[in-house]
Amino acid sequence: MRTVLITGASSGIGEACAKVLASESRYRLLLCARRLQRLHEIQSEIQELFPSCDVFCFELDVRDREQVENTFANLPVEWRDVDILINNAGLSQGLDPIHEGSTGDWDRMIDTNVKGLLYVTKYAVPLMENSPAPHIVNLGSIAGKEVYPNGNVYCATKHAVDALTQAMRIDLLTKGIKVTSVDPGMVETEFSEVRFKGDKERAKAVYKGITPLSGQDIAEIISFVLSRPAHVNINDLLVMPTAQA
Ligand code: NDP
Repeated sequence: MRTVLITGASSGIGEACAKVLASESRYRLLLCARRLQRLHEIQSEIQELFPSCDVFCFELDVRDREQVENTFANLPVEWRDVDILINNAGLSQGLDPIHEGSTGDWDRMIDTNVKGLLYVTKYAVPLMENSPAPHIVNLGSIAGKEVYPNGNVYCATKHAVDALTQAMRIDLLTKGIKVTSVDPGMVETEFSEVRFKGDKERAKAVYKGITPLSGQDIAEIISFVLSRPAHVNINDLLVMPTAQA
């Protein structure tokens, strides 16, 4: 059994990863996010469908460095060895030209998508010391490869994730840790609603004229990435809805 730590497991891609990996009977799941109640609901769904899958949930705000450090250091003894980290927690807030952007939105995106990913990685790597096949998967984005109108700060955070993935691949090579970036185009999750602060109409309009990816599509790709033989690493995978330009 390989133990997988998934950040942002309370919805969307993180939740789908938990469910797809649970269905494969070779993973134990450490699930975290800020919404603990939602994590417990997902745990119940998983354990009803796959009773032999071990799941442990805990609350974590990836922006809180001290909380990340203390929580990881104090995991129950049987959960202190991690094989796989899926750095998935992230968000976009606002879609405004740079001169009209909210500095609060900028802080939330930078603190979550960049600093949060760094904190989680720093304090999770020691948990991977005993793993025979350690692997980190970062959720990048098409926004980390190009910049689109009004995407400014979100795109900058995902470009940072792209750079950090490359840096981790170099720095963690001596520890034998594989590092992969999975970079989706549009995925229909809570992401769009979070971006537009609960405006469901605006959130839905984003997908007009295309069939977006689902969280499950991305989770199945991550499952494929994780199941390659030891000598094979997928460095970077860009995954788009067929109809997205
Ligand atoms: P969701 O909004 O559905 O999920 C985001 C997850 O991140 C939630 O579980 C949320 O949990 C968690 N999260 C947000 N802030 C924090 C925080 N401070 N601490 C801990 N957890 C946090 O969106 P997606 O599933 O779509 O997004 C997952 C990842 O995929 C993100 O990194 C996103 O940038 C990336 N991505 C998404 C795309 C899309 O079109 N949907 C496209 C490309 C990349 P909670 O609120 O409970 O803390």
